[in-house]
Amino acid sequence: MRYVRRVLGGLISLFVGLSITLRELFKKPVTLQYPHEKPSLSPAYRSAIKLIRFDETNSHDCVACLACQKICPSFCIDIEGGKVEGIKKKRATKFTMDFALCSLCGLCIDVCPTVTLEYSKLYDEAGYNRDWNMDLLEEFTDYEEQFITEQREREEKAAAEKKAKAAAAKAKAGKNEKAGKNEKAGKNEKAGKNEKADKVGGQAEEGEA
Ligand code: SF4
Ligand code: SF4
Repeated sequence: MRYVRRVLGGLISLFVGLSITLRELFKKPVTLQYPHEKPSLSPAYRSAIKLIRFDETNSHDCVACLACQKICPSFCIDIEGGKVEGIKKKRATKFTMDFALCSLCGLCIDVCPTVTLEYSKLYDEAGYNRDWNMDLLEEFTDYEEQFITEQREREEKAAAEKKAKAAAAKAKAGKNEKAGKNEKAGKNEKAGKNEKADKVGGQAEEGEA
């Protein structure tokens, strides 16, 4: 009898297990066929920082102010850069970070005056040692020369527009000044005429008396 009960118990447990498997078989899978399929990450996902590529310039906007390097509590950012010949804008010539030290605190992103830093969506980086230096300028290097040429043109255009605006404002101010002077002269003339008429009227009244 005990043998029959054990067989029945085993069969019941087998069918319960199979029913769960069958139910899960028709549910939407929560796993992905990685690396052929990539997950869609939350906008709040934080990974190593990266430089943003802006559409207008097709490059980053790091002016090597070092604000991010100075504020980094992990001392993992290393930047060099400065003035570039031919353009007013300063540029970074070296921007590396040791991701192994980064705590993803976000302070560097918060202080960047040109808003050119953001978190990347890296999630499958792996290595065999703790040396995790990343060159953030690497993807921009090939384009840098073209950027400088285009930046020079942008700056020249902006300077010409500024000059034209200043000239227009000066011309407008000159016109206003002239109109003001004319108005004042007209008023003075009118006032003089009125005064003269008053005097003549007064003399006439005295003569009659
Ligand atoms: S996220 Fe924080 S720790 Fe990482 S590089 Fe920026 S400031 Fe440094
Ligand atoms: S704060 Fe921004 S502009 Fe300044 S060095 Fe860092 S990334 Fe470049």
